[in-house]
Amino acid sequence: MSLPATAVVAPTSSSLDSYRVTREPYYRATGDEVALYEAAYSVRMPMMLKGPTGCGKTRFVEYMAWKLGKPLITVACNEDMTASDLVGRFLLDTSGTRWQDGPLALAARYGAICYLDEVVEARQDTTVVIHPLTDTRRILPLEKKGEIIEAHPDFQVVISYNPGYQSLMKDLKQSTKQRFGALDFNYPEHEVEAEIIAHESGVSMDVAKNLVHIAERARNLKGHGLDEGISTRMLIYAGRLIAQGVAPLAACRVALVRPITDDPDMRDALDAAVTTYF
Ligand code: ADP
Repeated sequence: MSLPATAVVAPTSSSLDSYRVTREPYYRATGDEVALYEAAYSVRMPMMLKGPTGCGKTRFVEYMAWKLGKPLITVACNEDMTASDLVGRFLLDTSGTRWQDGPLALAARYGAICYLDEVVEARQDTTVVIHPLTDTRRILPLEKKGEIIEAHPDFQVVISYNPGYQSLMKDLKQSTKQRFGALDFNYPEHEVEAEIIAHESGVSMDVAKNLVHIAERARNLKGHGLDEGISTRMLIYAGRLIAQGVAPLAACRVALVRPITDDPDMRDALDAAVTTYF
């Protein structure tokens, strides 16, 4: 099939304006991750942010994009995602066929940080499209279009990865992993996590500390009936309900206990932990 004339999107940096992080995101550093990331960015090292869900990886990359003054394009990866979803595709419209850059091509062409969230959810044949962008070549071949994008100097790939979810069937290939520097993330230590919860939800530090106590109990049950502990994100949800006037017990059941387990015994154990603190 021969394709009708192709209109190419004119390359302007304004293509990324909507991806700029204009206001400083609140990020409470928990170690030397900010300085390490800055150093990694200065040599454009692809980065992997490792840690459980809801512990601050996305917030961190938003903060770093703001601090470095670079646009941020985020892609939530899933198993139905194809290479074309990242790279781009031809679209048919009234004037013929038009190429539309996917998020990865857009970031590479105009110079953004491209954040592939939960990259392991994507199939391996999709993940390999980042390979030529994450070694010294820094190129993205658009096979269907017959173009090779040479990555903009500002371009960087960042992926997030939750080691807890991995199985032999679903893991990143070594050839992918070994293209990245990695930063470990985890739930912050007690006081710091409480500070984050208080800031993000509006509850007092006392309430925030009690929420962290409950989470710590649940985190100890990981691997003993719970697949994953209660995350900082969940504690913030509970805090927001409490700040809205919901009774703490009900707020914790809705935001902390019910979402993570259907097992009646485990629910009882977690409910008991909640009543210890509220
Ligand atoms: P992840 O990407 O690891 O799944 P997020 O970055 O979305 O998790 O974190 C969930 C929420 O927790 C954020 O929206 C933010 O409110 C809060 N949070 C977690 N860690 C921090 C931190 N260090 N500083 C500020 N906020 C944080």
